Amino acid sequence: SYRKGGYHAVRIGDPFASGRYIAQRKLGWGQFSTVWLAYDTQASKYVALKIQKSAQQFAQAAVHEIEVLCAIADGDPSNSKWVVRLIDHFKHSGPNGHHLCMVLEFLGDNLLQLIKFSRYKGLELNKVREICKCVLLALDYLHRELGIIHTDLKPENILLCSTIDPAKDPIRSGLTPILERPEGGTLNGGSTMIEKKLKRRAKRAVANISGRRDSMGGEARKPARCLDGIDMRCKVVDFGNACWADKRFAEEIQTRQYRAPEVILQSGYSFSVDMWSFACIAFELATGDMMFAPKTGEGFSEDEDHLALMMELLGKMPRKIAIGGARSKDFFDRHGDLKRIRRLKYLPLDRLLVTKYKFAETDAREFLGFLSPCLDISPEKRPTAQQCLLHPWLNLKSSDGQSKVDDGMSKLKI
Ligand code: ADP
Ligand code: MG
Repeated sequence: SYRKGGYHAVRIGDPFASGRYIAQRKLGWGQFSTVWLAYDTQASKYVALKIQKSAQQFAQAAVHEIEVLCAIADGDPSNSKWVVRLIDHFKHSGPNGHHLCMVLEFLGDNLLQLIKFSRYKGLELNKVREICKCVLLALDYLHRELGIIHTDLKPENILLCSTIDPAKDPIRSGLTPILERPEGGTLNGGSTMIEKKLKRRAKRAVANISGRRDSMGGEARKPARCLDGIDMRCKVVDFGNACWADKRFAEEIQTRQYRAPEVILQSGYSFSVDMWSFACIAFELATGDMMFAPKTGEGFSEDEDHLALMMELLGKMPRKIAIGGARSKDFFDRHGDLKRIRRLKYLPLDRLLVTKYKFAETDAREFLGFLSPCLDISPEKRPTAQQCLLHPWLNLKSSDGQSKVDDGMSKLKI
């Protein structure tokens, strides 16, 4: 991808914007961009520099992202809404073309890195709760105050708020800002280590209720303890695909595993697609496994597997919804049954949490009391972020990690 139209190759020490920003090290990358830690010589602080690929379609996406980020910043002068802050933007010319660059506040590891760091064991529910609060506050702001749908909510696009000054922590300079890497190699070096891990992760995902999962021992749930003491505040990033609810442009939105049923069926979508993704993320944080990891199979497509997995976990889709989308005929017969996957193995979420993930019955019941409404197949029945924020689960204390009584959120500005 480091060719004409693609990524801009950066070397440590490279200057940007006439020398204002100096590249320090790579923080991450996405389909459209690489993101670098940079030093802002004017403001004397560290920032994240998102350098877009240069081809026309990527430049256009960056223009759009900048527009959305400006609206976000304008509506939140005190930067307290749990959404990344755009500081500056400019164009940078290099051998591969002209790259739009966004200067963003410097944040920490993304939640996928956090999940990996837990060795896919999942986090204590008290930590999941803290993350949920931040994400819901962000969504409430985006949805209700700005009319913006994120459309690509996933662990990679939610970042911990960094508590480490990269300058004062030279020992960690090769590490991600908050978490020690579980093993050697350069986490941010674009190595294949990440790809290998992603493959392993895909294998470990819930994927199939139908007996292909490993059965687990009888021991009680043991969420990762290696995160004790880490503050779980986080912010939502990556507005490259965000849209205003009254100016939607894409039919197919969201990353596969976090995609809502109405998007697959093409029956129209709104803010509630973000609530679906939110619930998938909360499940993943609590268990370490993706909630839905559909695969193409013999005689059926990824979409159909996805719909089947949803029904196995959440119950049969109401006929009206099943047959109501522009693409319904591709998947469902007129009775509302899947055409090519006939035998579903139902395993309700509460049973899954207790049997596979060894949740205590009470923890499972309370957690799902919060989560299940967001996974309503019917988009208009899902609660809004504002309604979710009022849910009592967010103020509970769970027993699973025997966590301290200290309420991390009391320190937050909300
Ligand atoms: P893309 O649109 O290409 O997916 P993102 O905005 O999602 O780009 O950024 C890609 C990755 O870069 C993120 O998953 C994250 O790991 C890292 N990153 C992005 N923004 C920041 C930031 N402000 N601070 C620290 N790391 C960041
Ligand atoms: Mg991204």
